Amino acid sequence: MKITILGAGGMGGRFGMMLHQAGNDITLVDGWQANIDAIRQDGLQADFNGQPVTVKLPIYSPEEIDQIGDHADLIIAFTKSNQLATMFEAVKPIISENTYVLCLLNGIGHEEILKNFVNIDHLILGITMWTAGMTGPGHLSLLGDGNIELQNFTPAGKDFTLQVIDTFEKAGLNPAYSENVKYSIWRKACVNGTLNGLCSLLECNIGELGKTDVAEPMLRTIIHEFALVAAHEGVNLDEAEVYQHIAATFTAEIAAHYPSMYQDLVKNHRLTEIDFINGAVWQKGQNYNIATPYCALITQEIHAKEQILGAK
Ligand code: NAD
Repeated sequence: MKITILGAGGMGGRFGMMLHQAGNDITLVDGWQANIDAIRQDGLQADFNGQPVTVKLPIYSPEEIDQIGDHADLIIAFTKSNQLATMFEAVKPIISENTYVLCLLNGIGHEEILKNFVNIDHLILGITMWTAGMTGPGHLSLLGDGNIELQNFTPAGKDFTLQVIDTFEKAGLNPAYSENVKYSIWRKACVNGTLNGLCSLLECNIGELGKTDVAEPMLRTIIHEFALVAAHEGVNLDEAEVYQHIAATFTAEIAAHYPSMYQDLVKNHRLTEIDFINGAVWQKGQNYNIATPYCALITQEIHAKEQILGAK
């Protein structure tokens, strides 16, 4: 399959590498010049479960988009949420009526942005449990296993979505067709909406958060706010199950892990995806007349911290 990946960071790099190794025709587009330079010079390099792997992939900046040539069958979005609209605006020339777009970003509401650029019958949404980290420009740390759930946004896109699943299966990406990906997206957003914001504000790892005696009431309140808003969008979250799912991380191997928002904001002073997580719930809550005070406060505090740290 001819695939263009927008955002060659940790996840875009992982998918690019694995899909390339399975024989697909991969092109990367990225907005970070140091990353583009490193990939052009030395290839995309990874510590892939302890093995060094290097692949040569074409990479372009959004300003070089006219050099890409033929339209891809599939575009995979792997920018951060807050970079999505700018990236799609810049790459409009490579999106035709026939291009399919897959979005696996964390958070809620990306379809509202993508609808402005893509025929909605060609939109595929999903979540992924794969992980990836960047250790520097052009360098990835790809550890462990993962999977993907995906579903076409409208019934018309199902045949192509099944082709994508077949392509991903051959690349070892463990995809599965979801009959209700919207539920999975909201459920995963609850994980990010509790652990990411709180660990970033408290500057602690998941286990340390879990050991505090206010973790449970904070988590349950945040999940409840997500559930109230999700219900207005036809998604009925099982709050008790979602809480158990998140609380299980407090004592699992992942407890020592600092969530990605912590890494982005506290360690690297980068802007966060908060407006697409707690911020999206707060915004939607305002539209539906639902009070979401915890989500509002977390969003405002994260934005305040971004400003204090001079995040870019
Ligand atoms: P990333 O930060 O690694 O990359 C996103 C973009 O930011 C890329 O264009 C990259 O080149 C750029 N970038 C990275 N570091 C930069 C720096 N220091 N300066 C300037 N630009 C920089 O993001 P990601 O982890 O690949 O995440 C992409 C999406 O996938 C997000 O929505 C994320 O929430 C989601 N996601 C991530 C993981 C994960 O384990 N990383 C897992 C599931 C979902």
